[in-house]
Amino acid sequence: MKVFGLFAALSMLVIGSVNQVSAQETRVRWFGHAAFSVTTPRGKVLLIDPWLSNPSNPEAKDGKDPLVSVPKVDYILLTHGHRDHVGDAVEIAKKTGAVLVCNPELAGNLVKLAGFPAEQAATDVIMGIGGEIQIADGEVTIAMTPAVHSSSVYNPKAGPTNAERAYGGNPAGFVIIIKGGPVIYHSGDTAYFKDMETVGEQYQVDLALLNIGGHFGMEPRMAARAAQSVRARLAVPQHYATFPGIAQNSNDFAAELKRLKIPFYEMKPGETVTFRGRQMTQK
Ligand SMILES: [Zn+2]
Repeated sequence: MKVFGLFAALSMLVIGSVNQVSAQETRVRWFGHAAFSVTTPRGKVLLIDPWLSNPSNPEAKDGKDPLVSVPKVDYILLTHGHRDHVGDAVEIAKKTGAVLVCNPELAGNLVKLAGFPAEQAATDVIMGIGGEIQIADGEVTIAMTPAVHSSSVYNPKAGPTNAERAYGGNPAGFVIIIKGGPVIYHSGDTAYFKDMETVGEQYQVDLALLNIGGHFGMEPRMAARAAQSVRARLAVPQHYATFPGIAQNSNDFAAELKRLKIPFYEMKPGETVTFRGRQMTQK
């Protein structure tokens, strides 16, 4: 009995310390293209631009259902309405009950045209550029930042009198501030604009997830300039090598960042990186 008691006490100690370690960790996973998940120290899961069925995602290859890889999602953040960003948001929301964080026009049209569950898209976390909201019981603050792009929503009910693209509000980026974790900037599909410097002035960006593919958004050289403008402590490329017409590798981005002396890390689709506090500890 005594031995068992000691064993139980030791187990509790070990489990307790494991919890303590994981409790300080934030995990960021890339699914290819612009799709990332962020798991907070307290275990909340945010999914950004969840086109999980994109051709780069290893979870979508060989006939696999990529939604299996995200069994728990608390919030879906959408930078804008294009299909390569809305992606599988409707199916994921139905499956997980995740709440939508995006602009009101995009939310309204996703409900009306695409069948996004209304009760998960009409909450107090629908927001506008310039605003900051708190989610996850105050563990996460989301700031919506400007993006120079467009934001139509694909209309599956398009026909002779219904346009193929409906209004999707303004395109945006996000700054995600995690208590006890990193500050993450997701650029959406923006072009470079000089006021990105304001993001760098207002927030201490530990991790900048920057679209580098060009053609529809920043070319690699300007994406590196964006990393400099937002004062990124670490720049990670996204929105490239997914389909023809956008950059197929991050070489030019990496070279320009090297010249600007900004730390660079290239994630592989499917890869998770871990932050302890604000520092990336594990690749
Ligand atoms: Zn895009």
